[in-house]
Amino acid sequence: AACAILKGSVVCSTVRGNPYAGLVSHLRAAWLSGKTRPLEYRVAQLEALGRFLEEKKQDILEATALDMGKPSFEAYFTEILLCKNELNDTLNNLSHWMKDEHVDKNLVTQLDSAFIRKDPYGVVLIIAPWNYPIHLFLVPLIGAIAAGNCVVIKPSEISKNTEKLVAEMLTCYLDSDCFAVVTAGVEETTRLLENKFDYIFFTGSPSVGRIIMTAAAKHLTPVTLELGGKNPCYVSDTCDVQNVARRVAWGRFFNAGQTCIAPDYVLCSVEMQEKLMPALREAITEYFGSNPRESPDFARIVGDKQFKRVRALLSSGRVAIGGQTDEKERYIAPTVLADVQPSDPAMQEEIFGPILPIVVVANMDEAIDFINARPRPLAIYAFSCDSKVVNQVLERTSSGGFCGNDTLMHVTLTSLPFGGIGNSGLGKYHGKFTFDTFSHHRGCLHRNMGLEAINSPRYPPYTQQKLGL
Ligand code: NAD
Repeated sequence: AACAILKGSVVCSTVRGNPYAGLVSHLRAAWLSGKTRPLEYRVAQLEALGRFLEEKKQDILEATALDMGKPSFEAYFTEILLCKNELNDTLNNLSHWMKDEHVDKNLVTQLDSAFIRKDPYGVVLIIAPWNYPIHLFLVPLIGAIAAGNCVVIKPSEISKNTEKLVAEMLTCYLDSDCFAVVTAGVEETTRLLENKFDYIFFTGSPSVGRIIMTAAAKHLTPVTLELGGKNPCYVSDTCDVQNVARRVAWGRFFNAGQTCIAPDYVLCSVEMQEKLMPALREAITEYFGSNPRESPDFARIVGDKQFKRVRALLSSGRVAIGGQTDEKERYIAPTVLADVQPSDPAMQEEIFGPILPIVVVANMDEAIDFINARPRPLAIYAFSCDSKVVNQVLERTSSGGFCGNDTLMHVTLTSLPFGGIGNSGLGKYHGKFTFDTFSHHRGCLHRNMGLEAINSPRYPPYTQQKLGL
């Protein structure tokens, strides 16, 4: 099969000093040829993505297990099932989404055709992180293909087993004239970004997001930035403590906490902290047994650098549950820290690991002030049996997404836009929002050639009579 596998700087290029110029111009020529535009072409490529997911299911589970000990269920649910949902949603609706949208007209254009054309941008770049290494390039890719673009996919070099799988296998399913995988670390990605793309879709950290936006600005390339941050989780005094503990523990310890929308810390009263602790312990034991290290359902930290960073956060507050680590395995036990102060290390950065700090606040108002004094998060969670409390938190804060009385679950709906705000990102995707992200909404007016009398009032000379004076 004609696979476009491009390893770092070993790339088919004749342009000196720009190793990726050849690739980008190859894709641009394919895009200009118009071959990605017909519905049938897009559907064929999307169906090929479906075959990739189905036929390489086992390879995906194995690669993500090697990369971060991702439990099979978690890998199947996030890397395969959620992607299939997006794919099916897109395949079921694409012909409808692609249609010109006819819009209202004014008096002068009554006999004309005014419509919004969903145009592909051209050659787009998708850069993905390592934590959900298939999902986070595949879901944007579905929308990019659906919208008729050519695509360069840059998976994370940190999840190296999955990167290898994608480079070796994915391109065999797709048209290599229009879709390429570039395996690249920071240095090569910097070179890749020197090229002009028509759209860049980036998922990763806010600090790298700034680098991407700066590189894009040089070419005035529009961007979507799916970033991270600290997601607060407010737990009010009126709630079902057992259910809260189960839902928070699931969201925090899924993928060993390496989830961009994981609840990063809990805000609650001192009384609620007392009640939550045994309930969290019970939930953790129920999920992972008395020694989570032996559980097949608990993941590992992806790399040594990341392990050391997360372990250093354990010095915050008081270890109430867990706290054990093993550097060789990159294991950090599901951990809950009590009485964490806002000045502690765990509250200075996104945790992105299996540690849940609890910060005590006096009441809901203080929790809301705490949230609003910090960068806008990707998600906010609020738990209460009193829906007024949940609504208050929703009403008086700002975040990319929101989920009342649960964690993570809002991501499962393709009908909801997913994305950040402020420090947590720019733009949105999932379902039709992904198709719209990768489509330029081109405002078009197709006028009638005749009936010139309608037009004459706008032409010079601008007589007093035309001004209505
Ligand atoms: P990262 O920003 O370090 O890397 C993301 C991608 O950018 C990788 O492909 C990497 O190769 C590339 N990259 C890194 N440094 C670069 C540079 N200097 N120039 C060009 N490219 C560069 O992020 P990560 O560690 O892979 O992922 C963790 C972060 O991603 C967390 O902050 C997390 O919250 C965020 N995240 C966000 C979402 C979301 O949907 N909003 C999803 C998953 C992860």
